Amino acid sequence: MEKRYVIAMDQGTTSSRAILFDRDGKVVSVAQREFDQHYPHPGWVEHDPLDIWSSQMGVTMEAMQKVDAKSEEIAAIGITNQRETTIVWEAATGRPIYNAIVWQCRRTADRIEQMKQEGWTDYVRGTTGLLPDAYFSASKIAWILDSVPGARERAKRGELRFGTVDTWLIWNLTDGRVHATDYTNASRTMLFDIHKLDWDEKLLSYFDIPRSMLPEVHPSGYLFGETSKFGGNIPIAGDAGDQQAALFGQCCFEAGEVKNTYGTGGFMLMNTGDRAVLSQKGLITTIAAGTGDKVQYALEGSVFIAGAAIQWLRDQMRFLKSSAQSEEYCRAVPDSNGVYIVPAFSGLGAPYWEQYARGTIVGLTRGASKEHFVRATVESMAYQTEDLLDSMCQESGLPIRSLKVDGGASANNFLMQFQADISGILIRRPALVETTALGAAGLAGLTTGFWKDREAFRASWRIGAEFSPSMQNEERKKLLKGWHRAVRAAIAWAKEEE
Ligand code: ADP
Repeated sequence: MEKRYVIAMDQGTTSSRAILFDRDGKVVSVAQREFDQHYPHPGWVEHDPLDIWSSQMGVTMEAMQKVDAKSEEIAAIGITNQRETTIVWEAATGRPIYNAIVWQCRRTADRIEQMKQEGWTDYVRGTTGLLPDAYFSASKIAWILDSVPGARERAKRGELRFGTVDTWLIWNLTDGRVHATDYTNASRTMLFDIHKLDWDEKLLSYFDIPRSMLPEVHPSGYLFGETSKFGGNIPIAGDAGDQQAALFGQCCFEAGEVKNTYGTGGFMLMNTGDRAVLSQKGLITTIAAGTGDKVQYALEGSVFIAGAAIQWLRDQMRFLKSSAQSEEYCRAVPDSNGVYIVPAFSGLGAPYWEQYARGTIVGLTRGASKEHFVRATVESMAYQTEDLLDSMCQESGLPIRSLKVDGGASANNFLMQFQADISGILIRRPALVETTALGAAGLAGLTTGFWKDREAFRASWRIGAEFSPSMQNEERKKLLKGWHRAVRAAIAWAKEEE
């Protein structure tokens, strides 16, 4: 039977989704299911690994059924997943010994503080490309081994397996035959040497994690195994963490290509080619998704509060009925009337790294209106994005070739034009903003020959809209200067308290 589809399994933090793509990169069918979040203590976040598995299976079957797709018509499965989330299970039974500890969970913050005080920061950065943080899997694995009775001994005896969510899905899809992950997911564990492409002995021994627990690591496009869960055998041929999958789905294959996701938070990744650029400004160095043995690297930076600031205007301030309405207010005034809003609700990330900074509004006058307030908030997303872009440009020494965008707030045309103006670059928004799923499908489809080569896959990236810079340079500089003054005010506020 002719191969007609590739399935992307998109396992996210709040929901599992499955999308069937055809050879044109068109979405043929989608199914999605939310699952429960568990908060056993303040600051702790867990998922039930069986919920993850069953919801992902359920939506995949549903998406296939909707278009009556047979397993023989599926060329391959590609997986993309919430990164860093940590699961430990018994090799013999596949039973998890604890819930999945979700990336957001802060339970190991003290352990990481201790690690920093012991002087590990430079080693971690040089080896893994990361900064020591409780987000990453390493301290979460150690926590499970320390906290579940008998787990350390069992791990030493080789009875336990660790996996990020992709690994957990692959294990279950293959009935425990395959214990594997890809470079992008491995590079978020804080245990993986991104230069040697191997698990790092020193970090394993620091966290007392036996190698036997760890999955084999392969390129993101790779024949991981086959699953017979949907009828006939289907190859599992793609695997990448969500942000790297999105970079791939945006077809940012060349050094200097950048994508930014405007979601609740903002996520920017820049392809830096074969060079692993180590950042001095708190950006992270990571491995980009690819199909060969030779890896490409990427710089990654995030904005803590992006679309969340619009939610705040809508839900707390009650200025808006919907997030989309923000655009109307932005267009109702010619500028923000000198008002700047720095939405540092939970501190400032790269390039400032001021965890005690707090939200700050400057430049209010008697003439400031609700429209100015909304506009200043929307503009703050563009300013924060520009700060990241500028840092990436400086640290990589690469000229930015394009900025491709996705995520909920990228639908705001005012914001996209303002971004083009303030960054002085062309912004390209694809017609299909499901770039994460498309990236996973692309990896799987390229590995199995569903798409002949990258050029054939690239044809599935179609332009939705372009925004060219039209602001005078002087105006741009003036606005950016005002923004940076506002950021200094937010930081000064934090400093006073110390
Ligand atoms: P996530 O995947 O992080 O949950 P999404 O990519 O779905 O987020 O984006 C949702 C976010 O985008 C919300 O914070 C919402 O406030 C914001 N958003 C959605 N549409 C618009 C819009 N037209 N203008 C500004 N912000 C928007």
